[in-house]
Amino acid sequence: MELEKHEYDVVVVGAGGAGLRAAIEAHESGARTAVVCKSLLGKAHTVMAEGGIAAAMANLYPEDNWRVHFRDTMRGGKMLNHWRMAQLHAQEAPDRVRELEDWGALFDRTPDGLISQRDFGGHRYARLAHVGDRTGLELIRTLQQRTVALGIDVYMECTVTRLLTDDDGITGAFGYWRESGRFVAWQAPSVVLATGGIGKSYKVTSNSWEYTGDGHSLALQAGATLVNMEFVQFHPTGMVWPPSVRGILVTESVRGDGGVLRNSAGNRFMFDYIPDFFRKETAETEDEADRWYDDKKNNRRPPELLPRDEVARAINSEVKAGRGTPHGGVFLDIASRRSAEYIRKRLPSMYHQFKELAEVDITAEPMEVGPTCHYVMGGVEVDPDTEAARVPGLFAAGEVAGGMHGSNRLGGNSLSDLLVFGRRAGLAAAEHAAKREHTRGLLADDALADAARAALAPFEREGGENPYTVQHDLQQTMHDLVGIIRTEPEMRQALERIAALRERVGNLSVEGHRQYNPGWHLALDLPHMLLVSECIARAALERQESRGGHTRDDFPATDAEWARTNLVCSRAPGGSVALTRQPLPQMPAELAEIFEEGSA
Ligand code: FAD
Repeated sequence: MELEKHEYDVVVVGAGGAGLRAAIEAHESGARTAVVCKSLLGKAHTVMAEGGIAAAMANLYPEDNWRVHFRDTMRGGKMLNHWRMAQLHAQEAPDRVRELEDWGALFDRTPDGLISQRDFGGHRYARLAHVGDRTGLELIRTLQQRTVALGIDVYMECTVTRLLTDDDGITGAFGYWRESGRFVAWQAPSVVLATGGIGKSYKVTSNSWEYTGDGHSLALQAGATLVNMEFVQFHPTGMVWPPSVRGILVTESVRGDGGVLRNSAGNRFMFDYIPDFFRKETAETEDEADRWYDDKKNNRRPPELLPRDEVARAINSEVKAGRGTPHGGVFLDIASRRSAEYIRKRLPSMYHQFKELAEVDITAEPMEVGPTCHYVMGGVEVDPDTEAARVPGLFAAGEVAGGMHGSNRLGGNSLSDLLVFGRRAGLAAAEHAAKREHTRGLLADDALADAARAALAPFEREGGENPYTVQHDLQQTMHDLVGIIRTEPEMRQALERIAALRERVGNLSVEGHRQYNPGWHLALDLPHMLLVSECIARAALERQESRGGHTRDDFPATDAEWARTNLVCSRAPGGSVALTRQPLPQMPAELAEIFEEGSA
């Protein structure tokens, strides 16, 4: 077998914000480091992030601090977040933003010259450091420049298909060059997974083609565990028309900057959907909500800025009740509330997106929007301080990791998560590699041959299943049966269909050769998509309550017992998914007090 081999201390899989931040830290800690990514460097999903990076820098509101950010994050996640991750995140995010600025990121400014911060749902104070509505692009540009300047090796357009292990843990990874189809293996005692999310398992999603859940699945197959997989975030505002752009994100900044949601009768319906949990901190009247934009101290925030799960469910209900727009969404109106100049300055990407894709001028008319699969809260179960997974030498950071966001992520908390935990993962991965300097595992020839055989199997079969048809059927299944509102009979049906799809995935065949063959690439992604979908469906069926990104029509209330319980997926013998209940880690008294004070 022809195989290119390399040796490193730390291999980072993924070149989004989490991967690049991890690689920089590992390199600066003295580790020989490589980054591997499926797409071109600079093209990761992080680039698409629009609104900003949440960090309690107190630039606009001196009252803001890490304790308030911690409280908002935990409440947004309906208290299922790993408290330690939420604490570290809130404490370290401001330093990570300032560091990014030191490395050359150009943030928008306040009139006093400080980094400007904008409002987002669930955050008590304006907290998102941003660059117009193109924050992710600036974040990646800055990290990428630093990665290249430091001389870190980058393998781009290269897909990892398997993690390699021995009895002591990670020994490396195996993959292929997308252009040539040739195989490549990296020997390394530490691997950091930073592969992002799973959105492509759903039919309507804001996610790009890369989000096929590879890291989740690779980790599970290597013996790690996944936590919180039932929690999938449906962003309330995706484009709904025309069909070719359905699902593309409409940033929450539109609401943060004054946009409101209306139904077909013109009613600002979010006032009808304020849950008791958030009633005390949400405006009761339109007047109060509108005053809040200029005077946050004496008014409460508009219900349009409730956490995403609440807004997505409300939109879903309005459309179901027949009060939707002609294309099955609701109206998002900023045109009647802000000047055209303000909209074009604050939301340049949105302005162009609607102009070019939908022929809608958002400075003059409302947008049509509806929920879109956006983010997975669930991911690799990690130690909060080091991001170490259960397999020695395996680390995970960013969207592929679980625990930080509990049952629902607040907007802006992902970009800060990438920076905080990317850095920590890189540091811990370098330390692990240094400890194993003299006891490193070698790549076993039979394991490499097996990985190559598995990758080539779709070429060996004739007349098997078409990967595109199987992908379509999986996306439809997840959309119809494990979507925003869930019931037991539907999820049982989903699991039956997933079992049938597993047979079909085992019989995929592709034509042509190994040079840039998208059908083959999809055939290699599909087992990951399927495994992740099974984890989501199993966990969603098991959790008999509604919380955050998991809404059960048959169990609409939150449940005190489930408030103390996490669901953890592992790989069972024979390849299926095993599910275990695990008690939530106990929050220390000094942090629990923050919630009793209620006004941290
Ligand atoms: P990514 O940036 O997705 O990077 C994943 C990397 O892994 C890529 O380089 C990919 O090529 C690589 N990869 C995947 N599988 C493999 C494999 N098998 N082999 C090799 N490489 C692989 N969050 C915020 O906080 N604020 C926002 O304003 C915001 N706006 C958003 C707007 C949009 C449209 C979307 C979709 C998301 C937004 N988010 C936002 C969420 C946030 O962007 C993501 O959660 C975050 O960027 C994920 O970063 P990451 O580093 O974990 O992964």
